[in-house]
Amino acid sequence: MTELFRSVPALDKLLKTPQGVELVNQFGHQAVVTSGRQLLIEAREFIKREQHSPDFLQDIDRTLSYLAERLAEQQRVQIQSVHNLTGTILHTNLGRALWPQSAQQAALNAMGHNVALEYDLTEGARSHRDNYVSALLAELTGAEAACIVNNNAAAVLLMLATFAKDREVIISRGELIEIGGAFRIPDIMQQAGCKLIEVGTTNRTHLKDYRQAINENTAFLMKVHCSNYQICGFTASVSEQQLVALGDEFNIPVITDLGSGALIDLSQYGLPTEPTVQEKVAQGVDLVSFSGDKLLGGVQAGIIVGKREWIQQLQAHPLKRVLRCDKVTLAGLEATLRLYLQPEKLTSSIPTLQLLTQPVELLAEQAQQLAERLRQRLNSNYHIEIIDSEAQIGSGSQPMAMLPSKAVAITSPEPLALMSRLKQLSQPIVGRIEKGRICLDLRSVANLSELLKTVDEL
Ligand SMILES: *Cc1c(COP(=O)(O)O)cnc(C)c1O
Repeated sequence: MTELFRSVPALDKLLKTPQGVELVNQFGHQAVVTSGRQLLIEAREFIKREQHSPDFLQDIDRTLSYLAERLAEQQRVQIQSVHNLTGTILHTNLGRALWPQSAQQAALNAMGHNVALEYDLTEGARSHRDNYVSALLAELTGAEAACIVNNNAAAVLLMLATFAKDREVIISRGELIEIGGAFRIPDIMQQAGCKLIEVGTTNRTHLKDYRQAINENTAFLMKVHCSNYQICGFTASVSEQQLVALGDEFNIPVITDLGSGALIDLSQYGLPTEPTVQEKVAQGVDLVSFSGDKLLGGVQAGIIVGKREWIQQLQAHPLKRVLRCDKVTLAGLEATLRLYLQPEKLTSSIPTLQLLTQPVELLAEQAQQLAERLRQRLNSNYHIEIIDSEAQIGSGSQPMAMLPSKAVAITSPEPLALMSRLKQLSQPIVGRIEKGRICLDLRSVANLSELLKTVDEL
């Protein structure tokens, strides 16, 4: 036993070898010493537990190359890219929308350079960081101005905190939603210091319900787009148009949390209709909020559009300073919005829209290629076939809408074992398990040739 412990080398000695010196050059003294110490502690624990030496202690070369591996691993970024074969295009756990090319370029440029973020180059004077995006959004949506924060949850919080603190907000019981990740409308109201006045019932709310709840302390009539669920059957809800008319009567503004917030009519591509931001603005809603990385297909951001005087008040609230976006987000968002000035090109310029609108025939071809590649790599224990599949938009958009798709289904004695092999590839493949089979859905795949290359590692 003592013999074994004595075989654990001293760190000093390791670092003086040529490989040790090389490691210090590559990773720096501190990191090598910290990892080296840790390694030797683990070696002693291993000996105590197992009564023999671990493999990596067999000779100094082994120990050092093991240490080198660890140091390299430590440098590897863990937020690594994956292949999304879940069939959910806007997958929150996988980072939602992919940025358009031009947005990536704009962001990269902003990262490495100083940019005219709050500086007006024509006037040579200070300006506001939301200005460029605000002007674009005004052009695209018909609203007067916009305010940009980090995500739509922040947008809702800011609207409520600015205008409804210590006051009442009237909302239908059918719209008290929870989005994933602890975003619940009642909780946000509480955080913003406003009082939630629920009206109507879960399935039916009428205009008179709102009317009866209005008093001198009412700050807002609020609509929340039920993006992630549907109430079917005997239902009634009040449209924004009706609410705006009611609000006008009492001089009370109407706000809408639109969730996904499409900027184009998706039904033109045969996709399920999603209310557009333009539509809500045209209906006279005072403030509309939506996400930048859902159907818009861009950057994580919360976008509020509406009347100028309202937007100015949002901009002046101290919370806006807390929630404001950085130059990279704003550059990416601006570039994404500019693409909307050329609407005919959106299905190729915006990856999310490209994925959503791919014809199923194309997906069938891609499924063929993937299946072929998998057959070359997996032995006959695995049964591989192409099946019809149903993809989803994701991120709570249109949960009932199923998009026709194709998937490669793999039946094997141990699907979980294969699933974990797929996740250990250099760019992990994330699929879904359905009826005991692994389903790899092609609709959410952004880069087929990269995917096929990764499969070759199997
Ligand atoms: C997604 C969503 C949110 C939250 O938006 P984030 O950008 O994820 O913060 C809020 N409200 C609705 C209706 C949503 O669909």
